Formats: sequence, C-alpha cells, structure tokens
Amino acid sequence: MTRSFKAAVFLDRDGTLNVERHYLHKPDELELIDGVIEGLQLLQQANFQLFVVTNQSGIGRGYFAEEDMRLVHRKLEHILESHGINLAHIYFAPEAPGEPSRGRKPSPQFLLDASRDYQISLEHSYMVGDKQCDLDCGWAAGVAASVLVRTGYGADLERGELTVRGSFHVADDLLAAAHWIRQSETQ
Ligand SMILES: [Mg+2]
Repeated sequence: MTRSFKAAVFLDRDGTLNVERHYLHKPDELELIDGVIEGLQLLQQANFQLFVVTNQSGIGRGYFAEEDMRLVHRKLEHILESHGINLAHIYFAPEAPGEPSRGRKPSPQFLLDASRDYQISLEHSYMVGDKQCDLDCGWAAGVAASVLVRTGYGADLERGELTVRGSFHVADDLLAAAHWIRQSETQ
C-alpha cells in the first residue's frame, strides 16, 4: 500500500521488544520476545517507520551508565539488521522519575520530535507498549491508537488499574499487535 505521508510505529523497549529484566544493561541479557522479529518485519513491509521510545531511569538512578545502554542498543540493532529490520531512531529518557525530563514517557515529546525530524504523520501512527505510560504517551501525541501488549507488565495492567484515554487495542504480543495494525490500516 502506498501513502502520501509517512507513518510510524513507536515501540516501547522493555517488555515489548525484549524480555523484561530488572534494569537491563548487559547485552548478554538482551532476549527478544517470541514473534518480535516477524512482527517488526510485517510492520516494515507495510511501510511503517520503526522507532523505539524507552525510559531508562536506571541511568538517572546511577544503576548503570549511558554507555551500557548504548551497548545494549547496538546489539538490538545488530540483531534486527540481521533480519532486515531497520530502526529509524531510538529515543531514550535517562532521567529518574521526578527529575526534569524532556521526553520521559508519558511525555509525547519524542513522538513530536519524530514527527518533525522524520516527517511522520502521528494521526496515522501507532504506539505499542506494556505500561500505562506508553499508552498515555501515544494518546498525548495524537496517534491513531495506543496498543497494549500482554507481554512484560501488560497482562497485569490489563487485569489491574488500566485507564483508557483514547483509541485503544490489546494484543497478546508484538506480533499480534502488528497484525492488528496492518488490518486496521487497510480498512
Ligand atoms: Mg516496557
């Protein structure tokens, strides 16, 4: 399908792309969730630009260095590239909660940055994540829908205190989310 605008899928990292680990900061501990490669391939084939938007408060808390995170991201990009998947950009917020931050989710700032810097139409784009702050980030940015995945903390959130503030969908995992996004896009 060809479009006259560029659309994106904004992806949370921990619990959405990779298995949630407590303050993941070692490349060896990076493990992709089943179906993530296939899901990202599906989205890329549908001409979505792929962005990662991640809160990494472990840096602000002093648990690990920004360089540790960069090594994890290098490995992530290397794995994805070996499957033909290209991430347009990885946005990260290093601050601890409560610290002033330009982009820490639920702030929509990084999505607005991507809209400006990569000419992305946010109303044709999607946000996918496993936490309330991911969903809120997408809604605040004006995406077509925020998608909750049941991986990571998502299943607990769905059973617990989930607040829906906009167009919303729940998917078992990123692969299911990708199928849903492609389907809703062609309607
Ligand atoms: Mg997450």
